[in-house]
Amino acid sequence: MSQECIFCKIINGDIPAKLIYEDDDVVAFNDISPQAPTHILVIPRKHMAGPAEVTQADETLMGKLVKLGADLAKEAGLADGFRLVMNNGERAGQTVFHLHMHVLGGRNMTWPPG
Ligand code: AMP
Ligand code: ZN
Repeated sequence: MSQECIFCKIINGDIPAKLIYEDDDVVAFNDISPQAPTHILVIPRKHMAGPAEVTQADETLMGKLVKLGADLAKEAGLADGFRLVMNNGERAGQTVFHLHMHVLGGRNMTWPPG
């Protein structure tokens, strides 16, 4: 838990958010500024700044994060295509420094990303 972290505040209820999914390890909710018709964020309850801080002890947790993202995408009707994205660092466009995975879909995606 980080005192100043906006996603830790969502996890502990200080900032209200309608959760799509929660269990002891992970939480999912809609992005406040959606970049696609479906834009979900999946985050671990454990505070880590980003993927660069993932350690071997987090392997199961990270697998769970990816599986949940894929399951939520399929539940949202995105079986024909979705994107899972994790930004690390300001240069990659990261703005919230609590590890999170974007689940994006519902429109055609381009590659490479901007
Ligand atoms: P990133 O740029 O990868 O760090 O993504 C951070 C994401 O968090 C952005 O897409 C924001 O729109 C989203 N975000 C920031 N604050 C909130 C919030 N209170 N509730 C939901 N999503 C948020
Ligand atoms: Zn946090």
